[in-house]
Amino acid sequence: MGVWVKATVLGSGGSVPTRERRAPAIAVTDWAGHNILLDAGEGVQVSMQRAGMSPSSLDLVAVTHNHGDHVNGLPGLLQSMYVNDRERPLTLIAPPPVIDFVFEVLEATETRIGFRIDAVKAKGWGHHTLWRRGGDELRIKWLPSCHTRESVAFLLEWRLRPRLDPGRLERLGVKPGAWLRELIEKGEATVEGRRLRLEEVSINVDPIRILYTGDTGPCTSILQAAAGVDLLIHDSTYTSARRREALERGHSTSLDAAMIARRAGARVLVLAHISARYSGWEALEMLREARRIHGATILAWDGATVEVSRP
Ligand SMILES: [Zn+2]
Ligand SMILES: [Zn+2]
Repeated sequence: MGVWVKATVLGSGGSVPTRERRAPAIAVTDWAGHNILLDAGEGVQVSMQRAGMSPSSLDLVAVTHNHGDHVNGLPGLLQSMYVNDRERPLTLIAPPPVIDFVFEVLEATETRIGFRIDAVKAKGWGHHTLWRRGGDELRIKWLPSCHTRESVAFLLEWRLRPRLDPGRLERLGVKPGAWLRELIEKGEATVEGRRLRLEEVSINVDPIRILYTGDTGPCTSILQAAAGVDLLIHDSTYTSARRREALERGHSTSLDAAMIARRAGARVLVLAHISARYSGWEALEMLREARRIHGATILAWDGATVEVSRP
């Protein structure tokens, strides 16, 4: 039985939404039923409906910074959770100005939501454990990105307990039984009179890691955090022809994103935050540029999904 994580691009555009590309938002779901939203651009609710996701299903909303294209969908989302009688708390992780924005909007619109918002301030480097069960763990880490204002990137990390190897169990001549739970939780158990350690009958599984940069220029902290990630969803606002403009505005070109992905050894690169300047086939130039540097590159579109799995 394998585990999987799926990322859905809800908004692949930059600061101005177009018919083709909505403002930035990425949904991440996993095999254990967690639902995470990274950034909440305008129109995020409609994109969620198209992807078959309900606002009530969200466990966590993480916002990279307080530029309008990344936060303007959030008040509407909270409003819908309230209308749908949400009761369970929602975790919100974001730089302090975003958290202030949310509570100020709720106050200004006199919205008395019936659920708690557990706000976690993301500044510099930090992490928050969202879930832990039977040796599996889901953590979200944040780190500074290189933008024009206080802004963070998010690294989602599923640390997985070692998986039992049926072949090894067979070779040892032991049959699966009630002791399995003890073995998984404590790391060892007594089986048919002998002490068995988890390492003897299991295989280690690499963590699943997804890094979402939000808005950023080429950035050392992101290069470091992206080492070996399964999925790097990186700012790719312009093609390399507009590099100067990109750097002035705290953004990256598709070539910058590809260089980071290659140097970090990211498995798959997703080019996101595509400027409204590029419509239709024009955006394919980004893909051509990036693939020359990093073959496994996808140009994000609204509704695109990427799945990462482990045995
Ligand atoms: Zn942006
Ligand atoms: Zn921005």
